[in-house]
Parts: sequence; C-alpha cells; structure tokens
Amino acid sequence: MSSCSPTDSVAKADTQDTCDCGTGQARSDIACPVCRTLGMTVGHITPENTLRRQVRDRLLPDATYHFCDTPSCDVVYYNDRDSSVFGTQDLVHKVTVKDDAPDTRLCYCFKVLKQQALDDLARTGTTHVFQTIQAKMKPGQSCFCEKVNPRGDTCTKDIQDWLAQQDVASGDSAPAQESESTCCGPVPAAATGCCGGDTVQDAPKTGCC
Ligand SMILES: [Zn+2]
Repeated sequence: MSSCSPTDSVAKADTQDTCDCGTGQARSDIACPVCRTLGMTVGHITPENTLRRQVRDRLLPDATYHFCDTPSCDVVYYNDRDSSVFGTQDLVHKVTVKDDAPDTRLCYCFKVLKQQALDDLARTGTTHVFQTIQAKMKPGQSCFCEKVNPRGDTCTKDIQDWLAQQDVASGDSAPAQESESTCCGPVPAAATGCCGGDTVQDAPKTGCC
C-alpha cells in the first residue's frame, strides 16, 4: 500500500505523522496574532522555502515559526519573538486551506491542483486525487512536504478537508497491497502503511502527501 492513497479511515483522525516527510507537527502553544487561534509549529526550513525570495530576509533566524491554518485568516506564518507575520501574499504558492482558487495546489510535492479534482468531479462525480498523486510518484520517490507545503507537513488532511467541503469523498479505492512505492521510499512487502506497518485496522494514520 502506498501511503499517499489513504482510505477514508486513514484520513480522519490521527495527527501523528509517522513518516519522515513532514515535521511531526505539533499544535503551537502561542496563537496567531490576528485570528487568535493556535497554529502548527513548523521548522525554519518551511518558510525558508515557501516564502517569496523578496521577503525571506524578514525571517528571524532565532525565532520559532508557526503556520496559521485558519482558512479565513490571511496570516500564514507568525513567530514567538515579535508580532511580525507573513501573509498569503508573501508565499510563492497559494495556500490550500486559505484559497479557493482552482489553481491552488492540493499536493505541493507533485503539483496537483484543485482544478484537476474539480474537473474530475464535474466529469465523473468523484475524484481520485490520491491516485493522481500516487501516479506522479516514481518508485521509491519521497515526498518533500517540509520544503514545499506551506504547512510544512503532509497534505493529506488538507485534501480530505477540501473534499469534504466539496461534499464528496475521494473515489480512491484501497491502494494495492503489492505496491512498494510509498512517500518514504520502498517498504517491506508485508508493510501496508506509509512507512510500513500501519494498517486500516490500526489507529488511523495520516498519509504522506
Ligand atoms: Zn491566523
């Protein structure tokens, strides 16, 4: 099974990402200065790579940055040192949870746009967005969510949430057991999860894309 094709049960609950393609995000202990909601802590590597070059010198080297995942809030990154923030206009790409434009990415690693899923929905009434992502992965290829996804972690939950907003469940079927390609590279044949071992029967895991 490839982790980039979570079943419904896989997608729902767990915030613990067992693969190493994300930062192992934790809920921030300080709130976004604008919407007052606790965001998600990101590594410095994330804003260093997702911000426009022109604004990267505003990054504070010793600060811890947090991603605000409130859809209606324009703040993307805030920090624990001062009140400066980076907004959606400061990022190279639109942010999945904050922008409804069709050219917003659902998967940053493999450049899958909301438009592609919307086209699927218009044509067939469902979408196979996770299979689309999987199809773009070369065998053994890893994700690099930490560098390209503004939230610095797997896009699986964002995709599931977005699909729910479209009032549709992903049409993806359970991934093939024989697949050896996961976002974290080859897995033992017996392993069925993102980084091996997690099964649908186990506590649900988030995927890797
Ligand atoms: Zn906010």
